[in-house]
Amino acid sequence: MPHKFMLGTFRHGTHPPASKGTADIPLSPAEVPEEIRLPLSQHIGAPAREIVSVGDRVLEGQLVAEPSGYVSAAVHSPVSGIVRGFVTLPTATGGKCRHIVIENDFLYEKSFLAPLPEDADAEAIKARIAEAGIVGMGGAGFPTHIKLSPRGGADILVVNGAECEPYITCDCRLMTEKAEEVADGVRLLKRALGAEKAFIAVEDNKREAVAALRPFEGDGLEVVRLRVKYPQGAEKQLIYAVTGRKVPPGALPADVGCVVDNVHTAYAVSRAVRCGEPLYMRALTVAGGGVEKQGNFWVRSGTPYSFVYEKTRGDLAETVTDKVISGGPMMGFAQAGLEACCTKTTSALLFLDAKQISRAAASECINCGRCFRSCPMFLSPREIEHAVLDEDFARAEKLNVNACIECGTCSYVCPAKRPLVQAVRLAKKTLRRGGGK
Ligand code: SF4
Ligand code: SF4
Repeated sequence: MPHKFMLGTFRHGTHPPASKGTADIPLSPAEVPEEIRLPLSQHIGAPAREIVSVGDRVLEGQLVAEPSGYVSAAVHSPVSGIVRGFVTLPTATGGKCRHIVIENDFLYEKSFLAPLPEDADAEAIKARIAEAGIVGMGGAGFPTHIKLSPRGGADILVVNGAECEPYITCDCRLMTEKAEEVADGVRLLKRALGAEKAFIAVEDNKREAVAALRPFEGDGLEVVRLRVKYPQGAEKQLIYAVTGRKVPPGALPADVGCVVDNVHTAYAVSRAVRCGEPLYMRALTVAGGGVEKQGNFWVRSGTPYSFVYEKTRGDLAETVTDKVISGGPMMGFAQAGLEACCTKTTSALLFLDAKQISRAAASECINCGRCFRSCPMFLSPREIEHAVLDEDFARAEKLNVNACIECGTCSYVCPAKRPLVQAVRLAKKTLRRGGGK
């Protein structure tokens, strides 16, 4: 466990340029569209099931879709207005899902839950987290209330404020501007989990955030500074950097007594418990040379990417944007268009210009070994790619491809620009479908 004045870290990894030019731009409310297209799948698991009909008037914060399975999450309206219909649209991750179309009446009449009492117990907090539709906001979108009941329990809660992906700064702004609510959410999560200790782990390039959080330390809550290195925020790497515990391949954090949640999730928990506010709005970083109005914004779920672009592009011509990424450049999703809509897990929209992306074509592997030396999971990406090129997926499995966390480090460091993560993804997908020799 790192000492207060030492920086926690993990082995291997890389150092992409931080490109965090928006880090000093305070959060401000984003404009809200006339038409909200609210995805029913904003989380891992079964899509939520709508409980409203065309013509219904809904209020901001009202439940409009309920969980449809054990692993699922409630969805609430981000505005007041009229339900105009249901459409199937592309999602940021490449699939499609059903969306509720809500015509915004711009009145913002609210329907929140009642705040919980100060001494709410673990079960009441978990029930509230489920009611409020709170999911992991670092990108995974796993329903938070389920994570808080691990088999065998957990003694340590690690709250991820690493934000190690280039360009993204919304968590940094949140920790800096809303430190008290973030810390309150961490204590509520710790109580719900029954953990002895909670750590808020922050990369050392966010000194402002660390300074804002320090006054809330104590009573089992500690702020830990981490070395600036990618992928410091990956779950297993984070647990190791903070606690020294190693999560074995195929195991879960709870198997070593840990649960990891994101700082934005903690903030959402505080809002849900103290104010009865469900999760329908989040902090989002907009960055890249394709937009004039870069910054950090409070964006409501169901806001189309096209609307965000229109409102932040300024006078720049559309041709300036060469590539759109939902999330960070290392693990985010390149967009074919702008039809997808913001969700509870959309942390960034990057509108990158030609100077910000690499178009280098792949060449032959030069056996430099950088991919192996950088892989935080100690895999051999080059050999996995060879196995995939040979269509020998059984060999890829023996090379432990399923342990890959798809962090993109290998592709990033490869001087030959080999499509290593793509090979890994193909192998994992093929093995999931029962493929292989
Ligand atoms: S093989 Fe997987 S875990 Fe290793 S560097 Fe590549 S993407 Fe990351
Ligand atoms: S980093 Fe690229 S060039 Fe170097 S060994 Fe790996 S695949 Fe080959």
